[in-house]
Amino acid sequence: MSRYAEFYRRSIEAPESFWAEQAELIEWKTPPGQILDTSRAPFVRWFAGGTTNLCHNAVDRHLAARGDQAALIAVSTETGTEKTYSFRELHAEVQRVAATLMALGVGKGDRVLIYMPMIPEAAFTMLACVRLGAIHCVVFGGFASASLASRIEDATPKVIVSADAGSRGGKVIAYKPLLDEAMRLSTHQPEAVLLFDRGLAPMDLKEGRDHLAAPLIEQHRDAQVPCTWLDATDISYTIYTSGTTGRPKGVQRDTGGYAVALAASMKHIFDGRPGETYFSTSDIGWVVGHSYIVYGPLIAGMATIMYEGLPTQGLDRQPDGGIWWRLVEKYKVTAMFSAPTAVRVLKKQDPALLGKYDLSSLRALFLAGEPLDEPTARWISEGLGVPIIDNYWQTESGWPILTVANGVERTDSRFGSPGIPMYGYKVKILNESTGEELTGANEKGVVVIESPTPPGFMQTVWRDDERFINTYWKSVPGKLVYSTFDWGIRDKDGYYYILGRTDDVINVAGHRLGTREIEESISGHAQVAEVAVVGVADALKGQVATAFVVPKDGAVLGDAQAALTLEGEVMKQVADQLGALARPARVHFVSALPKTRSGKLLRRAIQAVCEGRDPGDLTTIEDPGALQQVRKAVVPH
Ligand code: ATP
Ligand code: MG
Repeated sequence: MSRYAEFYRRSIEAPESFWAEQAELIEWKTPPGQILDTSRAPFVRWFAGGTTNLCHNAVDRHLAARGDQAALIAVSTETGTEKTYSFRELHAEVQRVAATLMALGVGKGDRVLIYMPMIPEAAFTMLACVRLGAIHCVVFGGFASASLASRIEDATPKVIVSADAGSRGGKVIAYKPLLDEAMRLSTHQPEAVLLFDRGLAPMDLKEGRDHLAAPLIEQHRDAQVPCTWLDATDISYTIYTSGTTGRPKGVQRDTGGYAVALAASMKHIFDGRPGETYFSTSDIGWVVGHSYIVYGPLIAGMATIMYEGLPTQGLDRQPDGGIWWRLVEKYKVTAMFSAPTAVRVLKKQDPALLGKYDLSSLRALFLAGEPLDEPTARWISEGLGVPIIDNYWQTESGWPILTVANGVERTDSRFGSPGIPMYGYKVKILNESTGEELTGANEKGVVVIESPTPPGFMQTVWRDDERFINTYWKSVPGKLVYSTFDWGIRDKDGYYYILGRTDDVINVAGHRLGTREIEESISGHAQVAEVAVVGVADALKGQVATAFVVPKDGAVLGDAQAALTLEGEVMKQVADQLGALARPARVHFVSALPKTRSGKLLRRAIQAVCEGRDPGDLTTIEDPGALQQVRKAVVPH
């Protein structure tokens, strides 16, 4: 049996001893009493009775051994700034913010909503909250007022922490007016608003409620705020899912289980070592930002890079498609984490940029968030000369579900597959209609996780246990299985392939097809830059596939003849590769596809527009104009 297979087996057969061992990777004030409590499954409690603190593990714990080592490296190509904080400096900054929050009345269990750009103060605030036992709720900076308002209502924060503005591609986005409008729309009002002023946009302050951060923080310059010891099962934070498939769900996470899960993943999956540098290009508004910009690397004693800006602009604010690689060289990054959508942006840059820097420190590039298509994976892997490790997970899980654990045993990724189940996850594939487990190779079904879910996994939906049960645990009556709502297969060697969301299955004349398979086939066409496929109701066949393609050559958009030719070629390619049933009934050409802010295709919105329905909750859409193009394409007049 391979080393990893044995490791995995132990995690499943003897979860208590396995996780008790992992729990030693973090520091406890009081060691855990009961390792695992499943008496109220699927609500599980990890390490109950143990007391610890996330901030202690991310910061204080490292002071003795690595106080002067870099902890947080804040780089903004928007403001052209770059600053490194050692663990000791980070410790001081976090205590200043913690003391300021305390002065505003924040204590254990209070919610603090954070609506901030990618500046170091955002990380200080997150760490300050968990230091006090306050529950943070980070909302992606720059979200529209309506999205922010619904999150304020749901989280009912005592304090909101924000900034004057964010910036994207040199364009300043003033946050305060968005926040003011959100508070106006919300029935819940915070007691105080703390505002970091970057000098990018003017702010109207409301007397008695709004406070500029700088003078308050100055008052607490030398503050010493001890960590509040929390029970392992106390809430650390809430975060909303990306809203790709509907109304976002408020994911609630614990403290001890999460700390252990992150420490273990840094070691076994990311193979990140103390003293090294980790670079995740995500945003603190997403789960990746929580787990692998802020908490994971710091818990592991690594320096973490917090990056504000596009991947295509330099510190001098001039175009620079090599900025990320420049940072890898400069800070000797050993592990990097990004998303396929970002790599696709880089793919449009000069490939020579990849060879321009010394990337010898880099051991792997991890990608997650959406299916990684083979051409993109090959392009980046050949360009960088390091392994590309796909990893599949969800906001709900907090850390990877499927990937390869190179920290346990060197394992190669397979193109097209995010990998194998990670330790602690009992991943199964079930027949969607019968709920029966599919054990054969390459049988298609829903990817589920059997209870008990491992440490780090969501505890429940914030303030809504019923929604937790009804949303995730009801797909197979009589079985305690969590549905990922993703559709997948497992090959004969145990590697999983994610075929798309269960919502995204197309049923053509009784045959079930994954949108992902059709998209992969289409994206193999040399003239296709991006594609989305949805199923559209059809009187005759039930559903037919409809494709929206962004052509590499924009001229196709204005040339009916060229469009017709390309449409024919795309249809033929799918028919040749997947069969006539999968052939899209129509191929429309657009210049952009509707996506969430985190780069996920909003297929349900495209589908609704195609079927003349209301596209539903669009609060997380990046560019409403892209959906408008879809509308125009399907209803030409
Ligand atoms: P919502 O749940 O609100 O609809 P969302 O599912 O997009 O939004 P996230 O938790 O950010 O919110 O995304 C998780 C989903 O992203 C997974 O369920 C899966 O569909 C997709 N995903 C993540 N990583 C991968 C990957 N490596 N390969 C394929 N799909 C992935
Ligand atoms: Mg989801």
